[in-house]
Amino acid sequence: MSLLLGAADSPHRFGHVSNFGHNGRMDAVPRFRYHPDPIGTGSVRPSNERCEVCGRISGNAYIGPVYSAMVDSPVVCIGCVADGTAAARWTASFTDGHPWAANVSEEIADEVLTRTPGFSGWQQEQWMVHCDDAAIFLGPVGAPELARFPAGATEALRDDLATSTRWPAAEIAGYISSLQSDGMPTGYLFQCRHCETFLGYTDSL
Ligand SMILES: [Zn+2]
Ligand SMILES: [Zn+2]
Repeated sequence: MSLLLGAADSPHRFGHVSNFGHNGRMDAVPRFRYHPDPIGTGSVRPSNERCEVCGRISGNAYIGPVYSAMVDSPVVCIGCVADGTAAARWTASFTDGHPWAANVSEEIADEVLTRTPGFSGWQQEQWMVHCDDAAIFLGPVGAPELARFPAGATEALRDDLATSTRWPAAEIAGYISSLQSDGMPTGYLFQCRHCETFLGYTDSL
């Protein structure tokens, strides 16, 4: 148990820890081009529960949204998200497709919706689109995390707020400085795979 708690306390490093799980290992987290660090973003965590799809104890669990009429908060390993078996089993998606999925090809929408880990926001999450492609999800961000990105990341959130709220600049700046990755309000940061433009939005309850 102490190993589990210790690992959960340092999620960014967990992907490199091999001594976890009932058999001493955690399966490697597959590569997701639209969500490259699902452990860092909090959508995958260490787990010793048995996956309801493959029946294995993979050492990890997907903990983001599962949209399905057939299951409610199932235990599913990240491998069964990656290969599409979880989505097929439960006619599920891991992100809501409205309205962004209509702006990319069916293949891209399908990959993000059914073979890519989603993320949990305070409101209905939105996947962002740029250059006719789904963008890369970089994670939930607060002001401290945002400061570690190039200025374009903050500008993306500022632009989104300016459009959606019409607040004066000082109010927007104050709101951005109040963002928290694990509290409210929260920013959600994306980046275009093609032109590298940052994209993002914020929400709270
Ligand atoms: Zn599985
Ligand atoms: Zn772009």
